[in-house]
Amino acid sequence: MNAILGAALTQITESSKVLEADYTDKKRFKKAIDLIKVPQRVIKGKVKVGSKVFSALRVEHNDARGPFKGGIRFHQDSSEDEARALATLMSLKCAVAGIPYGGGKGVIIVDPAKLTTSELKELSQEYTKLITPFIGPWKDVPAPDVNTDGQIMAWMLETYETKIGYQAPATFTGKPLEIGGSLGRTEATGQGGAYVLSAYCKIKGINPKNSTIAVQGFGNVGFWFGKIARDLGFKIVAISDSSGAIYDKKGLDIDKLGELKEKYGSFAQAAKKEKKELITNGELLELPVTILVPAALENSINKDNMEKVSAEAVFEMANGPTTAEADRYLFEKGVDVIPDILCNSGGVTVSYFEWVQNLSGYYWTKERVNEELKEVITKAFFDIDKIKKEKSVSYRRAANYLALKRIVDAMMLRGRV
Ligand code: NAD
Repeated sequence: MNAILGAALTQITESSKVLEADYTDKKRFKKAIDLIKVPQRVIKGKVKVGSKVFSALRVEHNDARGPFKGGIRFHQDSSEDEARALATLMSLKCAVAGIPYGGGKGVIIVDPAKLTTSELKELSQEYTKLITPFIGPWKDVPAPDVNTDGQIMAWMLETYETKIGYQAPATFTGKPLEIGGSLGRTEATGQGGAYVLSAYCKIKGINPKNSTIAVQGFGNVGFWFGKIARDLGFKIVAISDSSGAIYDKKGLDIDKLGELKEKYGSFAQAAKKEKKELITNGELLELPVTILVPAALENSINKDNMEKVSAEAVFEMANGPTTAEADRYLFEKGVDVIPDILCNSGGVTVSYFEWVQNLSGYYWTKERVNEELKEVITKAFFDIDKIKKEKSVSYRRAANYLALKRIVDAMMLRGRV
């Protein structure tokens, strides 16, 4: 079993120990938890592109709360274990956000950089044919993930609709706007994180004007989170890409940094040419800021650097940026870690809005998307905060508790256990 799957299953085991007390029928509860540890279905096959053959799969984790939902990634190092772990975490993320989906994840073991555009299109079409019997608006709704994008969703949708013989845009999310995508999806993950940040600061009495933020990562998530947080009045003192972090204790202009990154290719180059202060990614994680935001990699806060983390709170915008050991250490030290399944759930929440818009055939303004996102994610934060306080547990434990409870209850109501 790989580390990421082991960690996901450990999280379920640990949180179920807190949750067990809520159920009188312990046997039934245990049966539900055992079922949550394994996916309901794994579809496996080979996908042929010319003479090349690739292994492909789709993991459908648990649909007690609604259709399976989750990305499709094209990556040479992916595996079934990884897909199982990510599908499981998607079930938890959808349950935490209170959106009516279970988790899924699709994978093709392929290095897409080695394919031409027409091969990539054929790969997407062949994969869709493999999973067509199992997907659909009320069955399983895929989306983009690592190395897949709106164009790939468009090819997949066309293949799917040709096979079934009618339009069904709600089968895929993350589509281009022209064929049923949602406004606000690009910035949704960062925007959702910023709403969680506002809610957290409100209950903690933190004034944005007097607080500082360091963000690791300047991709889709880091950029939008940084930009929106800055617009809310927070001072972003450091933000990084893989080459290093630009630091300015007076605060950074995120739009300007976007332009510099475009112009010079990397922050290291930009700092050299524009005489900005550059620190390492390691130093960024140790800055004495109010909020530290890992928004790039897995395991960036770990046993080697956890003692040097000097932030008052950590917002996990990346998936799995804190190891279990570091998470325990930070909890004992009194540092709040706001977990990934809440912090970055803005992306899947706006995917859900895309599905809702496709099903109704009526499209929302960006303002409406953001208003509804704010409502959903702020409610999720306060639900978790309440459990955290009632049970005296960490935010992560509270989020897992809430997610598991919602899944277990749905399974029991359906009579699956
Ligand atoms: P991205 O590829 O757009 O950006 C990744 C960023 O990380 C880049 O700025 C890159 O320079 C930086 N990076 C890479 N290696 C680094 C290193 N060694 N040190 C510091 N920075 C490094 O990816 P993204 O979409 O922004 O996703 C970031 C994280 O958020 C991932 O964990 C992803 O799974 C998670 N996430 C993304 C979404 C979404 O909607 N995009 C939703 C949920 C979770």
